[in-house]
Amino acid sequence: MGHKQRILLIYTGGTIGMVKDYDSGSLKAFDFKTLKSNIPELNQLDCVIESVSFENPIDSSNMNPVHWVAIAGLIEENYPDFDGFVVLHGSDTMSYTASALSFMLENLGKPVIFTGSQLPIGDLRTDAKENLITSIQIAALQGKAGPVIQEVGLYFEYKLYRANRTTKINAEHFQAFSSPNYPPLAESGVHLKVYDEYLLKPRKSKKLKVHKVLNTDVAILKMFPGLNESVVKSILSTPNLKALILETYGAGNAPTEEWLLKCLKNAIDRNIHIVNVTQCPGGSVIMGRYETSRALVRMQVISGKDITTEAAITKLMYMLGDNVSPKLFKTIFETSLRGELQ
Ligand code: ASP
Repeated sequence: MGHKQRILLIYTGGTIGMVKDYDSGSLKAFDFKTLKSNIPELNQLDCVIESVSFENPIDSSNMNPVHWVAIAGLIEENYPDFDGFVVLHGSDTMSYTASALSFMLENLGKPVIFTGSQLPIGDLRTDAKENLITSIQIAALQGKAGPVIQEVGLYFEYKLYRANRTTKINAEHFQAFSSPNYPPLAESGVHLKVYDEYLLKPRKSKKLKVHKVLNTDVAILKMFPGLNESVVKSILSTPNLKALILETYGAGNAPTEEWLLKCLKNAIDRNIHIVNVTQCPGGSVIMGRYETSRALVRMQVISGKDITTEAAITKLMYMLGDNVSPKLFKTIFETSLRGELQ
């Protein structure tokens, strides 16, 4: 018999571990020890589960890159001692954190599974138990050549997704996430089905490298009919701005008004990277397909292809933090680093 898989639970906060404050009636984070005693089922799993909690668990709306570095640090410190990691996180910004971690953990060879829930673990109708228990089982899955999952995943409501392909789509349904441009990596039904053909296969020989410098001199600008020049100018004149995501229409289209193109060209000439990401939940940017994106091609706007905004903004923070040279920036952004784009 092989050794029992060792799984580290990292509790950051979120609804999964919240209770109702009787004075205000609002949900707030509570002590992780109570979370564990709320799920006696954990003792039935055939693995060793240890846990570590943020000192002050947070609602994930308060997540920021400092917390991402803390999570990456916990995984790095504990990497040799555990076979897999499950990160409990609020669903609101889970796709951002999980995308960021996918970039920060280069050459990841073990599963890092993010999960959370829409209802607190103590609620009678909670979705937390299934999400947590199956996430642990997924993190403990071993194949002939080691861990089955060797990437950052997000498990919610019976589906495991590649984390950097996900987006939160619903604040009400248990199915809170979707991965519009990449199929699920696994599905939980009567059996736990893993779709091997969709998994990332990292190179075994490479050692985990944890990137902890993230640059937040970035912004997102969503196109809408009526967007005016002073708004665009003011964003592009933000001190130290290094990169901007343009959330464009459809296949990467933007208005062809001269003032807009001038503003963008001027920013690119000042070495600000402009990335074209579609505001459509599914599909890809194909610059040049329509007249309305040809000018963007000419001025060397970066194509986000089918990346999510969550993955794009965190990829920018990671690449800028890594000081990727301006010459290579476009090529590297347009290349899949962790399976985040086609
Ligand atoms: N507001 C909560 C959070 O993101 C929602 C959740 O956990 O699902 O922390």
